[in-house]
This record gives sequence, C-alpha cells and structure tokens, in this order.
Amino acid sequence: MNVTMFSRLKPGFVYNDISSDITENDMDAVADTWDMDGREVYRGTRDPRYDHANVFWLYDDNLERAGCVEHSLDDHADMRISWFRDSEFGTLLQEDWTVKDDLWSKLPQHVFDRFLNEGWTTPDTFLEHCLEGPMRIVTPSMLVVRPVVYTCSVCGRRSLKKKEGCSMFPSYLEFPDRSKTYFIDFDFVVHVPPDDSVVWSMLQPQHDGGSSRQPMQQELVQEQMESLPSLEPKSLPDQPQHPPNSLVE
Ligand SMILES: [Zn+2]
Repeated sequence: MNVTMFSRLKPGFVYNDISSDITENDMDAVADTWDMDGREVYRGTRDPRYDHANVFWLYDDNLERAGCVEHSLDDHADMRISWFRDSEFGTLLQEDWTVKDDLWSKLPQHVFDRFLNEGWTTPDTFLEHCLEGPMRIVTPSMLVVRPVVYTCSVCGRRSLKKKEGCSMFPSYLEFPDRSKTYFIDFDFVVHVPPDDSVVWSMLQPQHDGGSSRQPMQQELVQEQMESLPSLEPKSLPDQPQHPPNSLVE
C-alpha cells in the first residue's frame, strides 16, 4: 500500500508515497504508547524528513504505520492527527469513503468490450477516451495534480496530451456530470465519497486547482495555463454606435 495524504496542519503540503512500513528513523527507536483519538498507538520519533511541522508516525500493535500526528512548529499544542484508511481517497482527504465494486462491472457491455479490446485499461488511457462525453474518472493523484486537457482550436480534438499537427490549448479538465464521475484507484475499484465530501468542490472549475495545497505543481500548471487565450473580449472592430432608440425608429 503506497498512499498520498494531504497535511491537516499545513494546507499545501502532501505526504507522497507513504506506506504502512516502519520508517527508517523509527526502526531502532523506543516508542511510547499514546492514546490518540481514542486509539492506543505507539508514537515514533520526530521524522527529520519534514520541516513543515513536527511529524511523528503512529504505529499499531503489529508495528504497522497507522497514521501520523503533526505538531505546529510555533505551538506544540496545535496538533492534528491523521489516519490511514481503507480507501486511498479517504486517507488522502481524511474522510469516510466506502470501497465498492470495480468500474468495469458498471459499464455497458459494448463499452466494456471496446475498452478492453483497445487496451484502454489504465486510468489515463481510459480517461483519454471519455473526453468527448460527460463520463469522467478521478484517481487520487488527479486530486493532487489537477488534470489538464488540451483542445485543438482548429479541429476541436481533445486530449490529455498535446498532439502534433494540432493547435492545442490547455484548460483544466471539467467534470460536467456528477452522476457520471467515478472515483477509482489504479485497479479500477470504485470509491464512493461521503455526502459532505470536499471532493466535489475540488473538482469545480473555480477551485484554485490545488494552489493552496501544492504550490510547486501549481506553478507548472500555471505555466501551461499562461498560453490560454485571454478571457478578455478581443478588441472588436469598431461597431457603428447606434443611438439607443435606433430600433424603434
Ligand atoms: Zn486539430
């Protein structure tokens, strides 16, 4: 299990590629028992890899990593506890997500056959072939770095990658239909958000695209977005100025 988790203490910080393994730092450390959120856990030593907060990993009875506690650098009493959960989305967002069947069993047979025959079986290739319609898939990593879609201003073609010979401009991928938006892991297992999940607002076009979460990646997207055509109205050729009552003359 390798997962990603947003910091609860510092918006903008993401724990990447974490697992339930004991950290090198805690390998030979003597851990104390702590009551955290009503769970009895062992707390490791401060993880020196992080400097956004004082971070201590929490371990269960089998010495599997189960979560972490973050203490503010300024005020040790200001702390947040995060837990690993069954759903990768639940871990990422620290929400109660449920894990359902796989996405393939939800698709109409002809769609299922086509995607399988064409080998569109990774999240990226699958999504690439949904772009002309309303169906969307979302993986945990797409919530960390928001997908960008390229649209050709000449032929209208849409793709997750720039295509040679087309005049592609980037925009954030939109999610037009909530009922056709599926949250999946890399094995295409569908995860269902709780009703009050923040995930829907994260997918909104007006969302800051993660700038409060991952500034560096945001900059990359920003660079791509700078080539977007301006939303300002283009300077139109001078229009004859009709008096307001010209229609009733
Ligand atoms: Zn084109």
